[in-house]
Amino acid sequence: MSPADVTDGAVEALHRQIVREAEQGGYRVNPDVPFAKSLVRGLLVNQARYGYISCPCRLAAGRKEADLDIICPCDYRDPDLNEYGACFCALYVSEDIYKGLKKPQSIPERRPPQGTRADGGTTIMEAPTTMTTTKATGFSLKYPVWRCKVCGYLCARDEPPGQCPVCKVGKERFERFI
Ligand code: SF4
Repeated sequence: MSPADVTDGAVEALHRQIVREAEQGGYRVNPDVPFAKSLVRGLLVNQARYGYISCPCRLAAGRKEADLDIICPCDYRDPDLNEYGACFCALYVSEDIYKGLKKPQSIPERRPPQGTRADGGTTIMEAPTTMTTTKATGFSLKYPVWRCKVCGYLCARDEPPGQCPVCKVGKERFERFI
């Protein structure tokens, strides 16, 4: 499919899916529906162009491994929601903005510049250096603990889940936490 082939029906379907999954996970999608759908169209154009829904507000490298951190929802959504009440594109917004109690503000780019990201672009969020290790805590865990880099969901199992049950991103967005 080429970017020109993105149909209104496809935009409608993905917008519905994003709203449904957002609400299941405790997130809000911008209630300005035409604006939100214009972003969803951008996601679909990027999917047609690159094969994945990279952020419509950022320049993608066009290689999935380099763009993993900006596949929507991106790794920066939650920190931006916490700090500014909206993600960088304002597709996702806080409850206050959703209810019209606050207006979205402009948001500085949080993504580290190219060259400072590992793997030629992918932001590998290393486990925090203050992270408690099993050795340091003196107890051993039966399973490794995996953390979703998008929403922070944690789970203890041999492998990360195929899909995050909260924000629905794929297995490749998990990092080993403990
Ligand atoms: S969540 Fe991130 S990738 Fe998705 S629209 Fe917002 S800023 Fe762009």
